[in-house]
Amino acid sequence: MSSDRIKIVWIYPDLLSTYGDQGNTIVLERRAALRGIPTETVSLRSDEHVPADGDIYLLGGGEDRPQILAAQRLRGDGGLARAVQSGAVVFAVCAGYQLLGHEFGGEEGQPVPGLGLLDIRSGRGEQRAVGEIVGDVAGELNVPRITGFENHQGVTQIGPNARPFAKVLHGVGNGDGNGFEGAYSGRVLGTYMHGPALVRNPGLADLLLRWAVGRDIPPLDDSWAGRLREERLQAVMS
Ligand code: GLN
Repeated sequence: MSSDRIKIVWIYPDLLSTYGDQGNTIVLERRAALRGIPTETVSLRSDEHVPADGDIYLLGGGEDRPQILAAQRLRGDGGLARAVQSGAVVFAVCAGYQLLGHEFGGEEGQPVPGLGLLDIRSGRGEQRAVGEIVGDVAGELNVPRITGFENHQGVTQIGPNARPFAKVLHGVGNGDGNGFEGAYSGRVLGTYMHGPALVRNPGLADLLLRWAVGRDIPPLDDSWAGRLREERLQAVMS
């Protein structure tokens, strides 16, 4: 028996999974296995109930209409909110990030209610933000510089009960006028980074695993991921 067993819940791949976001699931499974931590992954379609006993919940990006449908179903279901109350880890990308907040902009810019699990508010910006994004992560999270790909119309303001995940060095991120990217509160973290985010940022994957098991985990040889990171960082920062 291992108290470290991690249950990963991949929420609504039928609605929320763009730009390879499912790769985030694979990275968590693999990096946990290399530390001898067993995982179980549940891939949950949008007509299924969200179990409240997961350790890490993953949400990906999505087009405007699937995003609205996902928000409605998750609100109606209530399982994700119960899991957050019990201290589960949530990692959400783009549409998934926006729908964790109080509201986001629908396909005509209309305000759509979110889940209110993260103190952020999103609307539609004037221009689509498309391209590489690089940022320096909030010091207390102990995660190296992030690299990813963004493609969104939404702009996101962070409220007093959440903190900026990173400061943008290249790209747009939240587009809030403060140069911030993503937000987090407790163990709920959202970002505009696809890429997939955890493939390009193994340090971020390890933060989620540390949160899930509640202890430090040994480092891995990340030279291959390091090459990918270097290549991407050099492409945009030089
Ligand atoms: N539909 C949202 C937006 O355009 C999210 C897009 C995405 O997930 N890539 O802002």
